[in-house]
Amino acid sequence: MAKTDDAVSFISTPGFCSDCGSILPLLGDRGDVTCYACKRIWGPEAFGDMAMSYTIHFNEANVYGSVKQKDNDEEETEGPVVERKCPQCQNDKMSYATLQLRSADEGQTVFYTCTKCKYKETENS
Ligand SMILES: [Zn+2]
Ligand SMILES: [Zn+2]
Repeated sequence: MAKTDDAVSFISTPGFCSDCGSILPLLGDRGDVTCYACKRIWGPEAFGDMAMSYTIHFNEANVYGSVKQKDNDEEETEGPVVERKCPQCQNDKMSYATLQLRSADEGQTVFYTCTKCKYKETENS
């Protein structure tokens, strides 16, 4: 009634020496490693799925590194845009900014900038 197929499960945890429980060094060029603690030599199978997942993660890192950057095509505007015909290019949208140049009772100056050709004009209100 003795079962013999337990022999294939002698490695319990990938990456660890199941003789002494020490963590194994990384796989060497020869495809096997020697446990630092008990000097037992393990083949690549000691790492089991772990060696496989290292490879997968490495490839994924390359994919993430090449993810295209967020689009940055925001138009450069200098303020709120109003419907106003540009005298230079006939564009009908200009951005504006106001500036209090003199004392408050003399009104303010509005600076318009064409969103298309950047033509600038001022208007005193
Ligand atoms: Zn060991
Ligand atoms: Zn214009």
